[in-house]
Parts: sequence; C-alpha cells; structure tokens
Amino acid sequence: MPLHAARPKILGFINEDVSAWLVALLALLAGGVLTGLLAWTALNAHQQQVAQRFQLLASERKSRIAERFADQEQRLDSLRRFFLNSTAVSREEFDGYTHPLLQRTLAYGWAPLIAGDQRVAFEREVRQQGLDDFSILDLDPAGGTHVAQWRAQYAPLLYKQTSGIQGAPLGVDLLAQPARQATLDKARELGVMVVSQPLQLPGVAAEFASGVLLAAPVLRQAATADGSPALRGYVLAVLSIGQLVADGFTQQNQDNLVVEIAGRSLDQQPERLYQSANAPAHQPLYERSLLRLGDRIYDLEIRTSAAFEQANRSAITSLVIMGGLLSLLLSALLYILVSQRQRALSLVEQRTRELRDREQELRAAHAQLRGVLDAATEVAVIVTDLRGVITTFNAGAEHMLGYPGSEVLGHATLESLHLPRELEERAAELSLRYGKPVPACQAMLVPDAKELAREPREWTLVRRDGSHLLVNMLATAVLDDLGLWVGHLAICIDITERKRVHEALAARDLLLKKLSAHVPGGIYQFKMAADGRFSVIYASDGIRDIYELDPQALLENAEVIFERIHPLDVSRVRASIRTSSQRLSPWREEYRVLLPVRGLRWVRGEATPEELPGGGVLWHGYISDVSDMKRVEEELRALSVTDALTGIHNRRYFQERLTLEMARVSRGNGELAVIMLDIDHFKRINDRYGHAAGDRVLQAVCQRIAHRLRCTDVFCRLGGEEFMVLCPDTDGQHAYHLAVELWQSLRTTPIDGLGTVTGSFGIASWRPGEGADALLLRADSGVYAAKQAGRDRVVEELP
Ligand code: GH3
Ligand code: MG
Ligand code: MG
Repeated sequence: MPLHAARPKILGFINEDVSAWLVALLALLAGGVLTGLLAWTALNAHQQQVAQRFQLLASERKSRIAERFADQEQRLDSLRRFFLNSTAVSREEFDGYTHPLLQRTLAYGWAPLIAGDQRVAFEREVRQQGLDDFSILDLDPAGGTHVAQWRAQYAPLLYKQTSGIQGAPLGVDLLAQPARQATLDKARELGVMVVSQPLQLPGVAAEFASGVLLAAPVLRQAATADGSPALRGYVLAVLSIGQLVADGFTQQNQDNLVVEIAGRSLDQQPERLYQSANAPAHQPLYERSLLRLGDRIYDLEIRTSAAFEQANRSAITSLVIMGGLLSLLLSALLYILVSQRQRALSLVEQRTRELRDREQELRAAHAQLRGVLDAATEVAVIVTDLRGVITTFNAGAEHMLGYPGSEVLGHATLESLHLPRELEERAAELSLRYGKPVPACQAMLVPDAKELAREPREWTLVRRDGSHLLVNMLATAVLDDLGLWVGHLAICIDITERKRVHEALAARDLLLKKLSAHVPGGIYQFKMAADGRFSVIYASDGIRDIYELDPQALLENAEVIFERIHPLDVSRVRASIRTSSQRLSPWREEYRVLLPVRGLRWVRGEATPEELPGGGVLWHGYISDVSDMKRVEEELRALSVTDALTGIHNRRYFQERLTLEMARVSRGNGELAVIMLDIDHFKRINDRYGHAAGDRVLQAVCQRIAHRLRCTDVFCRLGGEEFMVLCPDTDGQHAYHLAVELWQSLRTTPIDGLGTVTGSFGIASWRPGEGADALLLRADSGVYAAKQAGRDRVVEELP
C-alpha cells in the first residue's frame, strides 16, 4: 500500500505544508465567531438584566414618589378633616396636630376665609388671642408687608407650622397674591384639594427650592343661604418636590436614576416640577408614567443615570478580549500540534523510507551473498545452528561433497561430514589440553587455545560416495546483532591438489637442495628491482663457500656481495650486470673476491636474465670458484708467451706488446724504441760444438742481456739466434746507448768453453705515423748493416 494513502490528511486536498497554518487560521476564525456569538448573547442577557434592573428601580422609585405624594395628600386631608370636625381650632391645637405631620413637608398653614366686613372683628379676635400686632397684611414686591387694603374677602395666614423655612408672615392675605389666589379659587370652585403652579420657595436650599402649594378647602358644617356649602378657609401645605422625590435616597451623583417630573400649566405649557441634578446615561433607559397630586396629573420620567451606566457596565470587552486570547491560544496550540504531527509524520515517512532502503540493501546484499556463496564453487560454505544441524550448504559444498543441498539442509550435521576417527583423535587431544572432556561433535569448532585466533585446520571430510576429501577448514561462531551465539560457520577449501603440489614442490626443493649441495659453487636468483636496487631471491648453500657469506644474510641484504668483490673488479661487475639487464643478454663474468678466510679467489658467474612484469630483471644463475682453473690458465698463458729454451718472452708476446706499445705511442703517449740483435756466426758454433752447445750459448747470451736490461724493457726471442728488446718511453739516442751497453756485455766476457760470442745490433725508434712493420724493418736493416759492416757492432739508427 502506498504510504501517502495510509497517511491521514487533515484536509484531503490541502497541501500538508500549509495545513498547520490553515487549521490555526480556522481555529482562530471559529474562536472569533464563537467569541462574537458569546459576546452577542452575553450582551443581550446583560441588556435584559440591565433593563430588568432599571424596571425594578424605576417602579420602586415611581411607587415611592407616588406613595409620598399620596402621603402628603392624606396628611393635608387629615388636617382638613381636623378643621372640618372642629368648630374652632386654637393655635395650640393646630401646632399640636401639624407638628408630627411635618415630614417632608416644609410648612402647614391655615388661612380662614374672612369677609371684608368681618376683618376688623377678626383682627381684634386674633389680637385678643395673643398676637397683639396682628392685622391682615399684603406682601410688598420687595418682600416687605403692609396692612392690607380693604377687599371683599381675605384669606389671611392665621396658623403656620414650618420646618426648615421661614414661611410667609402670619396675617398675609393669600388672596392678595395672584398665584396663591388662583390656587385657592380653584380649590373653592372644585371643592377638592388642588395644587398650585410650581413655586420658587424662598429661604430653601437650591436643590429643594422648587415646590408647590397644596391647598384644600375646609367647608362649614352649616350650608350657606343659597345652599352651597360655605367655605370656612383653607388648609395649606408647602411641599418641596425636590425633597419629596430625593429625600431618603442615595446622594444624587450616585443615584442610578434621573428623575424628571413635569406638568402642564393651565395654558398647556409644559412646566418642569423637578429635575434630578445628576447626569443621565449616554444611552439612557427611559420610562414614563403619570403621577397625581391633588387635582393635577404629572408626567414622571425616569432615566438611567451615568452612575447606573457605570455600575452596570457590561463585561463584553473583557469577554471579547478573553475570547480573542483563548482563540489565539487555541489556534497557536493547534498549529503546534498539527505542525508537530506533520513533523512526526514526515519523520515516520523518512524512517520508513530508510527502513525500506535498508531492507532493499539487505535483500541485495543477501542475494549478492547467496550469489557469491554459490559462485564460490571451489569453496564449501556450511552454516549450522547451535545444535550443529546444517542450515546453509552452498554450491561449492554440493560440488565438493557430492550431496545435494536438499539432502543435508535441516537433516545432516557438520559432524556427519567428518571422518569419525579424526574427530575422536582431535577431541582426545583437546580434552588433554583443556583438562576437560571435549565431545567429538565439537572437536572441529574448538581452537587450539582460548587466546589464539582461529586458524584454518586440515580435516578429512567424507563425500557422499564414501571417498575422502582433504580440506582446510576455518570454523567460526556466528553471532547475531546482539552478539548472541546462534550457530557456526565452516569454510572449507579442497586442498587435495594443493597438498599434492606442495609435496611435489617439497620433493623438488629437496632435490634442488641435494643437487646444489653436491655441485661446486652456488645457485642463485638475483633480482634488480625497477628502481635499481638489488636483492637475492634464492641462494643455495654453495654460495656460502663462494663469498663466505650466509645465504640467509644474502636474502636480507644483497649489497654485501659487492663488498666481497675485489675493488678493482667491482665496477666492472656492476657494469656488466647493468648491461645484461639493459640488453637482457646472458651475464657472464669472472672476477676476484677477497674473502676473510681464504683470501683472494677467482670466481665465475653466469646467469640468464628474465624481465619481470612490473619492471626489473631476475637472473637465474650459477657461480663457481675458478681459482684453480685461473691459475692453470695463467700458467698456460705464461708458457705460451715464453721461449722454452731461454725463458724469456717469445715472438708472440713480442708481437702483443709491440701492438700495445704502438697503440700507446700512436695516441701521443711517450716514445718507443726497439733494439734488434743477431748472434754472429752462430751456425759455426752449432757446427763446431754441437746443437746443445749452441743452446747453451743462447741461454748464456739471454742471461747476460736480461741482466743489463731495465725492468720496463721487454726482452724477446724472435726465433733462432735473433732477439728483440722493446724499450717503452725510450728515444733513439738512449736505445743506442743501451744497445752499446748490451753489445759490450756480450763481447767482453767469453762463454765458458766456447769462447767469445758477439752480436750485431740494429736500432729503430718510433717516428710519428710509422707502422710496426716499418719500425721493425728499420731495426732489421740496422742488423743487416752491422752484418755487412763486419758484424760485432752496433749500428746507429738508420735514417
Ligand atoms: P751470420 O753471421 O750471417 O748470422 O751467420 P750465421 O751462421 O749466424 O747465420 P745463419 O742464419 O746462416 O745460421 C743460423 C743457424 O742457427 C742455423 C741453425 O742451424 C742455427 N740454429 C737455429 N736455431 C737453433 C737452436 O735453437 N739451437 C741451435 N743449437 N742452433 C740453432
Ligand atoms: Mg747469426
Ligand atoms: Mg740469424
């Protein structure tokens, strides 16, 4: 199943990389919407709650005000009935009755209705009652009083009971004041309690200065002549509306409500009776209702105040902020969760990919290993479990042992492939070594010693057909990843052929060793590497006699050979080796060696070069001591250049030396002269004394002449009785003198029994450009000239 199909996606079509942001954004949006809904619901609930609270407050306030209005009406009405039910009310009675009523009432008063003609009697009566200066008064516009003019009727203020105000002076005629008169007239006309227009009450605090006069007519019990009830007077109450409305409530600036009471004047003009001093709310709740006082109906308007608004402020802002913050937190949390989940998913994907790659690698490695195991047809690879049962049997094992894999896998054990006798012997050996029994089935697995690394060991395995197979087996433990022992691995190599080759090689080595031990000299392999360094690959024991060096030491350092070679020969030997390596030509050299024990010896080496693949040359060679042969050779050589009769050099040697000397002088190197001599009449000596005597003469002559010669001179017998002296670095003059000396030595002393023997001498010194033959011819000519001149003389060098 493909991986991406298994992976859950948050939003199927959305790129995983952006999904974290998207989820966070959606969460933020959802949080915002929820917060909005919540805020809206809370706002509604709050508004409802506020409205209810306002309703409650407003209705309470309204009922309280209405109650107070009614209370005032009732009190004045009770005062009216007090007067109605009394024929006469004294001042004391009035005071006593009204004093307890003075609650939220500024003043009570009694104004009897006095006809004009009764004025005097009335004033007298009042004065008699104690008010000495009583008279009916009129108020001045300036606030003062004066005795009232005569009028048909008066309603003078007779009693008054005040609280907190001075009130009008007693005796003031209320009918003389238009506002009060209108009120009293209306009360008389209607016969009920009436209320005046709003009044400004003098002497009262500003907030309570707005007030009304409440007046109720008091009728006489006896009707008038026309039958209408006679008016006795008026009871009055002065009310401060402000006091009525606000008294007993909280301070106005803290009041939750703004109260306004307004009425309509007679001409239907609005008149404000009361207005709260506190500020209304920005968006006040509002309620309007009607209030009745006396004969009048007032509008009562109640609004919420700023204090109410302040106290009932909604927590919507906090809610929105909290909701916003929560949404933000939630979206951040979701972002972190989703992004972490994505990271985890990508990590899982990466790990899965790695595991799959690893699995493929393992599979490939396994296939490769299987291929290698099966390709190694010359190597048997056998794996067993801990019980020794074979679990792997490669193609090499099948090929080598003849068992098909199916026959041994899971059935046969490694032990069953071994030769039992060999296992038992090995088990016994190991038991002895370890001091405890080692079972035969494990004998092939146990190493020689615990501390030793496992080494391959030779075992004999038994093929399916019963034949034996000699193998080299390396048995090791198989460990799993945790290092636990899970089985054994045996790798076997067929060593039958190797063993046979090994034995053949050993036999050949032995043969070589024997051969080299019995032949004089040594056999060797000498190598020159590509960088020019020498090494000895093989050296037989015979080399020891040649160089007086240990063959083993030579294998380690070939240069010691050159230390043994004679200093005069070593560069020649090196050069010839180099030449052989360059031309790949056989190397052959004879040279001297200086040995610690045997001293100077001549050796001869011969070797065949072979170019090595990586550069360098390998010589296969033989070296022998040729000192004896060399000595014989030198003797032969000496004989070949020596005259047997006289013992001096012969003609061959003369010719060799002459050639060398000619070459030397031809190079401009010094001079050369020859002296030739011939014994005079030698034939006669032979003839007279016999051939043996002649021989003796020849020997004696040679002796005398050799005695006179310098060591650098070369004295040779050319043949018969002719001799030649080769004088290197000698000019003609010196050669002449030497010749004269030789001539003298010959002729001055006779030979015993034979008499004086003389000789004829010729001289020739080399001239530039002259050949050997010409030189010899000139010397010979000198001898001839001496013969011609009578013999027994030295002839000077001929021109
Ligand atoms: P001349 O003065 O002209 O040189 O006369 P000659 O007799 O010396 O010269 P000639 O060449 O005629 O004779 C040389 C003789 O030397 C001839 C030969 O028999 C003799 N003779 C050569 N070789 C030997 C030798 O080895 N031993 C002896 N005893 N005689 C020799
Ligand atoms: Mg002669
Ligand atoms: Mg002669």
